[in-house]
Amino acid sequence: MRQRVFAVLLTFLFTACGPTIQGYPLRGPRPRESRQVAELLDPLLMTLELPSLRIIAASSDCKIGFAVARTDRVNVWSSPATTSPCLYFTLLITEGALEIPPEQLMATIAHELGHLALHHTPQSDTATLTVSGEHWRAIQAQELEADRFAIALLKRTRAVHQVGSCEAMATFLRHSVPDWYGTEISTRMDDAVTQRAASADAECASLDLAPLPRFRPAAGAP
Ligand SMILES: [Zn+2]
Repeated sequence: MRQRVFAVLLTFLFTACGPTIQGYPLRGPRPRESRQVAELLDPLLMTLELPSLRIIAASSDCKIGFAVARTDRVNVWSSPATTSPCLYFTLLITEGALEIPPEQLMATIAHELGHLALHHTPQSDTATLTVSGEHWRAIQAQELEADRFAIALLKRTRAVHQVGSCEAMATFLRHSVPDWYGTEISTRMDDAVTQRAASADAECASLDLAPLPRFRPAAGAP
């Protein structure tokens, strides 16, 4: 059963040479990496009542993209579907992120599913460091919203499938977000991470299972 799902996480099909993200070269995933991400992603998809990877694998044209960014630093991005009719999204995960504890990687993938489900506007990390106050607040509002989605999703996934950890969201935020921005981290970024992590802690401590917004594909996607 499990083996069958691994093939569905396909390497992103690049049309140009030398694809990069944030300056880091992208490569196709190794089988071990596809297996690792499939095992984290599958329970999240099922909790969202989306097709499981096994169902997607049985389809001829539904695929989920996955590529690896070559850096030891930790980050995960997603891009909305833009090509084939059933490609829901593409995940881009750094080599460093593939080394963090699985619960934390699952939390970041849940956060990315939040951006996709809520139709957020993708932001570049560089822009995030330099934008004006108003734009900055808009970006942080989206981040907080994606965190809340992730926490609701992680709680339900834990309740239904007995995997994942709500608390891993705040742990990831406290460790990996400042690590990514490094010495360039500004006071406002530090404040934002502190606020997001505190909010995540409070929501995890609540016993409520918040309702999950319905996952609606972006325009042009199925
Ligand atoms: Zn985000």
